[in-house]
Amino acid sequence: MKKIQQFLALYLKTLACILLFFTYFVESVNTQQDCGTSSSVSEIIDCNQANLPCDNSKPIKYIKINVHYLLTPDGKHNFTETKSNRSGDLMNGYERADYLIHDANWMMDNLQPYGFNPSLPVCQVPVRFVLSGVYFHRTSNWDINYNWSQYATFLNSLQVNPNEELNFFFHYDHTQINQSTGGLNHGGIHQGSHSSIWNDWDLNATNYGSRTICHEVFHSALSHPFQGDNCDDTNTQSSWCGTDNNVMSYTCHYWWNLTPCQICNLSAIFSTGYYARFVAGQGDCPIVNAFFDVPSEICAGLTTNEIGIQASASFNEDNYLLEIDRIDGPGGNPIPGTHFSQWYWNQKAGYILLHQRTGYNFQTDRLYRIKLGVSNSCGQYHEMTKETKIKSCTVDPESCCISQLLLSPNPSSIEINISYTLNADQNISIFVFDAYTGNLVDNPYYNFAQNEGSQQITYPLNEIPNGLYWLQLNTSLGGIQHLLFSVSH
Ligand SMILES: [Zn+2]
Repeated sequence: MKKIQQFLALYLKTLACILLFFTYFVESVNTQQDCGTSSSVSEIIDCNQANLPCDNSKPIKYIKINVHYLLTPDGKHNFTETKSNRSGDLMNGYERADYLIHDANWMMDNLQPYGFNPSLPVCQVPVRFVLSGVYFHRTSNWDINYNWSQYATFLNSLQVNPNEELNFFFHYDHTQINQSTGGLNHGGIHQGSHSSIWNDWDLNATNYGSRTICHEVFHSALSHPFQGDNCDDTNTQSSWCGTDNNVMSYTCHYWWNLTPCQICNLSAIFSTGYYARFVAGQGDCPIVNAFFDVPSEICAGLTTNEIGIQASASFNEDNYLLEIDRIDGPGGNPIPGTHFSQWYWNQKAGYILLHQRTGYNFQTDRLYRIKLGVSNSCGQYHEMTKETKIKSCTVDPESCCISQLLLSPNPSSIEINISYTLNADQNISIFVFDAYTGNLVDNPYYNFAQNEGSQQITYPLNEIPNGLYWLQLNTSLGGIQHLLFSVSH
């Protein structure tokens, strides 16, 4: 009889979730909201024994996650390739994604006793995340709400490897204004292979983003305890920020818990059925993931050609491999005599300046294939390959796009004013190079939309050491200008 009741409960829950999927059931403010699907009936029943002991024999399963940021068309309102638009935050979007995944894994490594029942055993969470890739979308749909009829369709269209990897979208939602504080509410929703989290980038809550990633991924297997979750060991009351530190409740606790029943269900859902496809590997040797981003074209440097690749780490790698070839065309063959290959042992990939790191001399108007491989000492390996061209950007800048570039004061100590005139609406990028080494020091603006006419930008120098620098301003119509300036603090 009990089994029939549980089956009915599961059936009703599954039905409810299907409805929720289409109606975007809205939870109260300041919360995640979503619906989970369930594993098979037998697994649910097995997990829901009273006083379920820990089964720490289950191998850790590794799940790849892609992090996406929705940006305004001019790159505002979120983390970008080069910076955060949150004041006082020095992380760029790659670093933020690294941080979120690392923090989520760290929390799973440090599960806490359940606030409602500290005598429950604290079991091993059978899941860890691996950052697979970081993506930036400049789109007019940057400010969206889950009630928008195209919400799921739009986000699904931006997914990467949706049949094998989970995709997380961080976006703004101006409708989520808290009536009492005037600040922005935040939340998340789980929908199959993607989840979205809104307003997180605007928050200072310490681990809200990583906690919400866990909450939404766990919705693959688990429902909210206070809505009925087929786990007798969870508390059915939502205590908000009280003693309830269960991550599937609306806890605001940094230190959170999953009960033995929840962990049992989580293990089951990633073993069989739809969600098993997202397991990229399992066992004691963590999988590694190579990911890097590089523009398809890079302007030739002033003194040396340099290619900077923005690599993000899986945190599980110990070593990385760089391979460089000059190739005879897109997807083409390596040119003999141009091959470079070297392992960098006991080092993690991050932002890498290839010329500076390897000594490789990149020639102007040539195409290069770059490979990043990562490995760890227990035998995992993964690699990614991309191509980029060193482009001569020495078109006649005055006539086409930009004029009257001025820097003042010069020398500068605190900030420098960059003024110029654009001869048409276009996007600008600003690069700062060390005048002696040619190395890229900063890229404060990237593909930033501006109107025709005179423009002025103030560039703070607090993170620029004393020295002599080239400031280079590129425009999307092909303009390029540079001027020397010196910094003396
Ligand atoms: Zn939820």
